[in-house]
Amino acid sequence: METCEESTVLVLANPKSGGGLAGELVPYLVRDLGRSGRAVEVFQSSAAGQITGRVASITKRYHALCVVGGDGTVREALQARPPKDLPIAVLPAGTSNVLAQEFRLPKNPTETARMIERGATRVLDLGVIERTDTTQHEVMVLMVGAGIDSQIVERAHSKRRGSTFGKLAYIGPIARSLVSYHKIDHWFVLEDGSRHGPFAQIVVANIAGYGGFWRMPGDVRYDDGLFDVYGFKASGAMGLLRHGVRGAFKKLEEGSDLVHFQASKVRIEASEPSPVQCDGDPAGCCPIEVRSVQRALTLVIDERTYSRSV
Ligand SMILES: [Mg+2]
Repeated sequence: METCEESTVLVLANPKSGGGLAGELVPYLVRDLGRSGRAVEVFQSSAAGQITGRVASITKRYHALCVVGGDGTVREALQARPPKDLPIAVLPAGTSNVLAQEFRLPKNPTETARMIERGATRVLDLGVIERTDTTQHEVMVLMVGAGIDSQIVERAHSKRRGSTFGKLAYIGPIARSLVSYHKIDHWFVLEDGSRHGPFAQIVVANIAGYGGFWRMPGDVRYDDGLFDVYGFKASGAMGLLRHGVRGAFKKLEEGSDLVHFQASKVRIEASEPSPVQCDGDPAGCCPIEVRSVQRALTLVIDERTYSRSV
């Protein structure tokens, strides 16, 4: 029988996430979890890093954590490396909800509370990034990229004003990154010592899809301890745009201009300083090293909408 503590759900929210949507959803989620008989603790952040601090300070045993926010909020929680068997639910309420889209998670609090009660889970790998400019290791849930994606992310974040950050904020940076595209050569080095490149764009993926409109080729598995590593060749912005359009129509195929490997450890190098993006946030510059931590996350899923076999 569960003790009282073990029946508590800890809700973690960045109330400003999704233009304030996350803060609006929290009271409904608390109500719906309460109706299921759960005790609920709520932690709402007012500054970056606080959610990481709250998760790092967990000493008791919770039934589950429930993150209300987008991919950035999820990564903030996982940055503290909670126990890998502690179920983590996500109520998507951010600008970017790629993880929720990949696992078709419900978007309303009532369904989220029901999903937590049913308790179906899926175990996933995580990535850990090691950089030369900081000793702090960052967690990667979705993917790491170096190339035009990271140039766009860097431009978008340098223009960021205030705390809201809508999808529209990307239009200018995408256009400017294509127009003023400056090709940087990138290489990846796998754990067997093999070095591959040069590539205009490298993506190290933990999941196959990106925002429901982009899909990587190959049999990407979430719990095999291996990343899927992609190198894109392109001589200019138009070539990269062509890869982008193919990905959007789920027509990316391995060939002479797209190579695909699997590896548990990858180093990304570049011919000159090249920014890196991790799950849509800036993450320093190449060179970086990413290693897979197998089965490090227990994600609560809605088994009625997500039934893909391992
Ligand atoms: Mg994998």
